[in-house]
Amino acid sequence: MSVRVRFAPSPTGFLHIGSLRTALYNYLFAKHHGGTCILRIEDTDRTRLVDGAIEEQISSLAWAGVVFDEGPHVGGNYGPYTQSERFDLYRTYGMQLVDNGTAYYAFDTSEELDAMRQRQQAAGIAPKYDRSSMRNQYTLGEQETARLLADGAAHVIRLKVPLTTDVRFHDEIRGDVVVNGREIDDQILLKSDGFPTYHLANVVDDHLMEITHVIRAEEWLPSTPKHVLLYEAFGWKAPTFAHVPLLLNPDRSKMSKRHGDVMVRDFAAKGYFPDALVNFVALCGWHPGGDNEKFSMEDLIAAFSLERVNKAGAVFDYKKLEWMNGEYLKSRDPHELATALMPTLEQRGFVYIEPSFVADVITLLRERVTFLKDIAEFGDYLFGDTLCELTSDQVATITGNESVLAALRAFHAGFSAATLTDEATFKAHAQASAEHAGIKMGAMMKPLRLVLSHRDVGADLYRTLQLIGAERCSQRLASFLS
Ligand code: GLU
Repeated sequence: MSVRVRFAPSPTGFLHIGSLRTALYNYLFAKHHGGTCILRIEDTDRTRLVDGAIEEQISSLAWAGVVFDEGPHVGGNYGPYTQSERFDLYRTYGMQLVDNGTAYYAFDTSEELDAMRQRQQAAGIAPKYDRSSMRNQYTLGEQETARLLADGAAHVIRLKVPLTTDVRFHDEIRGDVVVNGREIDDQILLKSDGFPTYHLANVVDDHLMEITHVIRAEEWLPSTPKHVLLYEAFGWKAPTFAHVPLLLNPDRSKMSKRHGDVMVRDFAAKGYFPDALVNFVALCGWHPGGDNEKFSMEDLIAAFSLERVNKAGAVFDYKKLEWMNGEYLKSRDPHELATALMPTLEQRGFVYIEPSFVADVITLLRERVTFLKDIAEFGDYLFGDTLCELTSDQVATITGNESVLAALRAFHAGFSAATLTDEATFKAHAQASAEHAGIKMGAMMKPLRLVLSHRDVGADLYRTLQLIGAERCSQRLASFLS
């Protein structure tokens, strides 16, 4: 049977980085096995919907390169199947369970349920629907139940959890899981407004969509025994389960906003490359073995297996993510990067710059930044002529030293745009000027950089001078020396 998996987000917010990882593992697993990965929007809880969340999640997934195989075509990506368009179906299936005795009617009001929970709390027992004392099909009897239903009394449908049996299932990541029926709540399947809960809709859809592997976040592990019971109640074969461990903050708490960005779009806005983020996220809790850390989507597909997903939560290492982005920045074609940087340069007012010049600047500076867009700021002295102000201390280090000043004057006096054309000629000219003033070349380099770029640090000095160009070097020197 060919592999079929699904990513099933609820549109209760924008795409969380942890959800990207869940979606990615589903995608990698499907592609590794030549299978199908579908997107299903689980919007049964109408009270928690967030406007625009579906569109945002779909576009974040597409940005990251997670593409789906089925469903209507939206925004360059497939999907989604949407549960709210399938509501009648869940009701029909829910009623099947009432008919076969694995689910039942319950008529309790919210006040009655609150009172039940308070009694349980006072008695020190875990809150759980008490089938034997509440107002349901079993305590009221068939006749009274029929009468209430005929009267249109508000009711829900609950799963009848067998009280003494153990529910067992195998999880591909966590191993064998056993939960006793006493610990499982008689889950509501259909709400009083007739809408299904997550549990019913999820199981019905996984069955109808012929899902072979349910790969989802660990927070859903407590729901799985209920789902296993639902599969049994329907007489369906359950899919294989794999619960992916949580992403953690450096202090090992559940990853949250308090520690930094958590939404995929935040990372995109910061300037992370989608493939660097995907590479990093794939390695949060999984590694194929060996020393390699850099994996393209194709590499990830080839290497992915559920067996190598860790059981323990994965700490989200922001420093490593930055390093990863830098690695992608260093290895990418500079001409491609130049095209991507153009809009940022234009925004900063650097217009009419040759893309090939931008590519040269990127090649010079990319070792020193994390994000491509940082080059627009870091290299402003190369793109434009409005330099940041030198501080009085910076000026004093030069003007306070007669021999350095003499070297700079010599450098300026002998300036010839015709001969200063590359790194070697700039270097030779700087050396000659230092010698002329009787100082070592080392003493000349920092002042030269300061005067010509107004920065203390930068990349290779002579390559920098070459890119600034003889003419602009001469102007900047003249204006400093005057
Ligand atoms: N709708 C659930 C969520 O928001 C899906 C859980 C599952 O994959 O079964 O994560």
